[in-house]
Amino acid sequence: MKVVYVEKPRSIMIREAPIPHPGVGEVLLRVRAGGICGSDMHIYHGTNPQAKYPRVIGHEFCGDVAEVGESVAGFSLGDHVAVDPVTSCGFCYPCSIGRHNVCSNMEVFGVHKDGGFAEYVVVGEKNLHKIPSGWPFEKGALVEPFTIAANILSRTECTSSDRVLVFGAGPIGQVILQGVRRTGAVCAVADIVDERLEKALSMGADIAVNTRKTDLEGAMMEWTGGSGAPLIIDAAGASDLFPPMLRMASPAGRIGLLSFSAASSDFVQLEAVKKELSIFGSRLNCSKFPE
Ligand SMILES: [Zn+2]
Ligand SMILES: [Zn+2]
Repeated sequence: MKVVYVEKPRSIMIREAPIPHPGVGEVLLRVRAGGICGSDMHIYHGTNPQAKYPRVIGHEFCGDVAEVGESVAGFSLGDHVAVDPVTSCGFCYPCSIGRHNVCSNMEVFGVHKDGGFAEYVVVGEKNLHKIPSGWPFEKGALVEPFTIAANILSRTECTSSDRVLVFGAGPIGQVILQGVRRTGAVCAVADIVDERLEKALSMGADIAVNTRKTDLEGAMMEWTGGSGAPLIIDAAGASDLFPPMLRMASPAGRIGLLSFSAASSDFVQLEAVKKELSIFGSRLNCSKFPE
């Protein structure tokens, strides 16, 4: 079978590999579609600190079951499935409190172990989620990015009464926007690319602000009647955004962070304490595929 193989940073190739066999509790998945994520690019560029090389990349993928291993009860040949790429140990502290997406021994398909940019991949039954057979596989591959949105909205306890500012109108910003709209909350989106902002407006953003052209802090104060945003989510990951996020947050507000940026940013403790802000990191997803 063919796989997309990153031998080391900046060295990528398609090469042959043996088709693996499913063990107990596993299936062989015929991969039908996969999404290229920013973190795949980071693995290629050598800027993903989690990645181990060489690596078959790809963690957003789906397909159909081509072979069923022993003791697999819930899946049969031909089932269409999306794959939760998070695998965990089950016995560390985060696993013990149900936070297996930050397992101390976590392995993610396509990052810590070989992933879905291959014709076939072996996946444990508990990482499989059936998708309707009528769905195009391209849609099935998009379930994983939506779980990123579901996870941060659950971490930050987004509710229908929220006013949410999302930084970044790229793919992750757009799926968060859709998640926010699904809760019934209103959403503002900030970016520096007009086309992305137009897309956000067409997907239900209340306002879209180009921060190169408009003073965002002023726009946010106006949008929130001077009180600041109850919930701010950073899907852009620029370290210089953190200080303005603290300023734009409402007292008792929440800030959700998604980026793996290693750059430091100024943190004025006073801003966080006087407003009693809550700051949440969100990584991958914690059992959000059913959502
Ligand atoms: Zn991804
Ligand atoms: Zn664990």
